[in-house]
Amino acid sequence: MKTAKQEVSNRVKVPKGELVIMPERCKGCGICIEFCPKKVLVFSKEYNPKGYYFPLAANPQECSACNMCSLLCPDFAIYLNKSVSEKTDEQ
Ligand code: SF4
Ligand code: SF4
Repeated sequence: MKTAKQEVSNRVKVPKGELVIMPERCKGCGICIEFCPKKVLVFSKEYNPKGYYFPLAANPQECSACNMCSLLCPDFAIYLNKSVSEKTDEQ
């Protein structure tokens, strides 16, 4: 039985894991984009279902895994998954 609504997530490989962005949760505040010290993130050119632009990883190779985006997002719409770093190295 399936009860939870399935959310779309964008997973982008970064040097120390993967960046997971859930566009449907995003309210387009831009905090993650503004405070990313490595300027990894940019706004999308399309709206999410709520009518907001959401972050995309334009420079994933620059991500330092500082976790700032994840800590600052008020809607838990972006996080860094460090546990995949070894498993996805073959890509
Ligand atoms: S973990 Fe840090 S460097 Fe990577 S995207 Fe988030 S804020 Fe930017
Ligand atoms: S901080 Fe969260 S809600 Fe704000 S733009 Fe980034 S992902 Fe969206």
